[in-house]
Amino acid sequence: MAGGAGGGGADGRGTARVALFPLPFQGHISPMLQLAGALRARGLAVTVLHTAFNAPDPARHPGLAFVAVPDAIPEAAAAANGIAKILALNAAMEASGRVRAALASLMAAEGQPRLACLVLDSTLPAAQKAAAGLGLPTLVLHTGSAACFRLFRSYDMLHHRGYLPSTESNLDMPIEELPPLKVSDLFDPSKLPSKEIGQKILDLATETTTSSSGAILNTSEALEPHELKLIRDELAPKGIPPFAVGPLHKLAAGDGAGETTSLLEQDRGCVEWLDAQAPGSVLYVSFGSVARVTRDEFLEVAWGLASSGRPFLWVVRRGLVLGVDERPPELPEGFGAAAAGRGRVVEWAPQQEVLAHPAVGGFWTHSGWNSTLESVYEGVPMLSRPQFGDQLATGRYVADSWKVGVLLEGAVERGAVETAIRKLMEDEEGEGGAMRGRAGALKEKVRMSVERGGSSQQAVDKLVDHMLSL
Ligand code: UDP
Repeated sequence: MAGGAGGGGADGRGTARVALFPLPFQGHISPMLQLAGALRARGLAVTVLHTAFNAPDPARHPGLAFVAVPDAIPEAAAAANGIAKILALNAAMEASGRVRAALASLMAAEGQPRLACLVLDSTLPAAQKAAAGLGLPTLVLHTGSAACFRLFRSYDMLHHRGYLPSTESNLDMPIEELPPLKVSDLFDPSKLPSKEIGQKILDLATETTTSSSGAILNTSEALEPHELKLIRDELAPKGIPPFAVGPLHKLAAGDGAGETTSLLEQDRGCVEWLDAQAPGSVLYVSFGSVARVTRDEFLEVAWGLASSGRPFLWVVRRGLVLGVDERPPELPEGFGAAAAGRGRVVEWAPQQEVLAHPAVGGFWTHSGWNSTLESVYEGVPMLSRPQFGDQLATGRYVADSWKVGVLLEGAVERGAVETAIRKLMEDEEGEGGAMRGRAGALKEKVRMSVERGGSSQQAVDKLVDHMLSL
């Protein structure tokens, strides 16, 4: 690993501490904890602030200090849907003043290294305001792609040029300023029940960056060189250097290795099942921690998998099916028999291990950014079925920019599912084979960026220098 590993000291790095505050959702907590591991490996002391809601388990991260910020998210807010929850969390943090109190006590702690800065999730302006009030510099972690970073900063342009609000007739229109995106790939706030709330969430990420001393992106020069150049050109003159340090789940190799960041218990029994499957034969299916499907869609997925004839490992987590929250959703009658001997269903999988397994030959994903990076890193081609937010743009990049997957568009219907699976999983002759080849080449490029001297390792070195200079 590049940079000073271990306790630091010789280069002065052991004399500084940084605080990190993730948004309490799986897809945001994981990259923040992975970043924590990478900073610790460079000799910084790291304290993670967190809410009681979705609190990480300190026992799994012995090298990090944890500080719970009490009551940062009230129960009513925890029950709200995604975007409303983020806004409620910010409001509660600002009203209670507890983040400020926690930061003040870290800054005043005697016998501790100096607190150099706070790294916050881009959607937590309340934490940024608390830090600013204490004169503590902040950096912002963006847990999505560089493409998505640019997209979220382009909404004025998208409205001004008439791409948004979208209409039935302009969905296929390419966005010349943001290739390869089309209007249908945009998160359109006007389609939400509350347009204002949708726009607010876009504004949050933009504002926190503008008020920060640096932007940390979980992506790699190997994946998004053009997008990163444009971001650098925009931000660097404003004194906000961007750092492309991804894929973070592989950056902290060594010191942070083996520390799972999963909030849910992972069912490792499926790895033994994979051991018994032929190389490249299994389709892994997971829609992440937040996306939900209707009961009808769930049935179409089930029957599409059953009739594809391919072995599959399917994550059916609690809450996946709308209206069924308390228990795991029931599989349709006859499904077990139809998939007998080649299907395995689990509530939550050790996903990184699954994607790295030689038996896995394809990944049906909701195109969450962490899942996409994990798949790219293992060279697994994807069947992308994005649902909302940044997933839509990521699905487009997978299919049209990197060409390492196919998009499943339109209504989820068992026949279309079966066809898409066959296309993805087919052997070397067809399109599936070509995709597999490109996924293998992209994997090599991305791996180089996190190896010693690679672009992401260099970016973390620069990030640490920058933090120490604040
Ligand atoms: N994940 C997991 N087990 C599962 C499904 C997902 O550990 O069965 C992890 C996955 O490895 C990824 C995260 O959950 O790191 C999901 O993040 P992503 O950004 O892909 O999607 P989100 O859940 O935020 O929509």
